[in-house]
Amino acid sequence: MKLTLLPLLFFAFGSIAQTYNPFYASLADDCNQDTINQNLNLFEGFGVKEIGTTEIDNTYNWLYNSYVSYGYTDLQEDQFFATGIGAKNLIVTKTGTVYPNTYVIIDAHYDTSNGPGANDNGSGTVILLELARLLKDVQTEYSIKFIHFSAEENGLLGSINYVNDDVVSTNMDIKVVFNIDQVGGIAGMTNDIIVCESDQSPPTANNAASDIATTELANCIEFYSTLSTEFYFAYGSDYVPFMNNGEIVTGLYEKNETPYAHTSNDLIVNMDLDYLYQVTKGAMGSLAHFAVALDDVSLSEFDKSALSIYPTPSDGNLTIETQQLIGQKAIISVIDVSGKIVWNQTIQSIAAKEHLQINDLTAGSYLMTVESEGRILRRKIILQ
Ligand SMILES: [Zn+2]
Repeated sequence: MKLTLLPLLFFAFGSIAQTYNPFYASLADDCNQDTINQNLNLFEGFGVKEIGTTEIDNTYNWLYNSYVSYGYTDLQEDQFFATGIGAKNLIVTKTGTVYPNTYVIIDAHYDTSNGPGANDNGSGTVILLELARLLKDVQTEYSIKFIHFSAEENGLLGSINYVNDDVVSTNMDIKVVFNIDQVGGIAGMTNDIIVCESDQSPPTANNAASDIATTELANCIEFYSTLSTEFYFAYGSDYVPFMNNGEIVTGLYEKNETPYAHTSNDLIVNMDLDYLYQVTKGAMGSLAHFAVALDDVSLSEFDKSALSIYPTPSDGNLTIETQQLIGQKAIISVIDVSGKIVWNQTIQSIAAKEHLQINDLTAGSYLMTVESEGRILRRKIILQ
């Protein structure tokens, strides 16, 4: 819930090459409206989730157990004190296959104020659950942290605590923070627009990157849901401590703003569940895009004929040949046995034959990856 509405700022983005990805569409189509609604019913049933209450503890335990039931094993209980009261964030990590130490954070607060908070923020909470459920066995290049913040309603205290204690102290490498807060719409209204939020406030060094991420978010929403998008600036939710720390943020917020936030009438009956379902689909496509989800089935077929690399062993002068990727942007990386990227190069428009010069690496065996359009090709190479 946001307390003030400020005038709309208009800003222009450069155009970004981004294409519809059939695999991301299939993930979006896998979102199950019944599952989402069942989770939202449970969330509402826990009651008023203010910090220090049994109700919020029960909600936390339900979230925790849900992730365990999906098969997640890296769950962190992040305890802190909010105005002297014990509170906890839940952080669930899914490790990426190519960039395990770079994180896409998707977050939603689960505490509520005065009412059960079905919209604010049961809506964001159940979206995270549904995306986590579906992505459990999908490889992603980047690691994902699903974060359920507490004490948002007390002044963003959960996310402030997390940024101070975990992000800053570990110098965490964050690709993007994707915040979802109050996206349930209003019963009886036409809810067909979602607001995509970008960082428009100081410090400004991270604002252009937030614009780009938010344009990508809006493109994904339009690719993978039936919704239209509008832009607004980010304020009043858990991305704020991240953007103040110089991270790249983006977020979703409902266009028709519920009048029931922070009241006992913030109930499912006052929401638009079809809208929530569409927001979930758009968020699924967006998260798949940000984390670069990989379609292993089509990958193996694609992989066989798509790429050859020679000679190997090589003195560092390599040729890669690809027919299927011609004209596309490609990121070529060399990864050592410990999984660390030791060399990489981005080619904006790849030719049928590309000559690479890989110097300064010790002799040995490496993995070369060619990443393009959400697909990744892998080959072992040997340098002499
Ligand atoms: Zn909220």
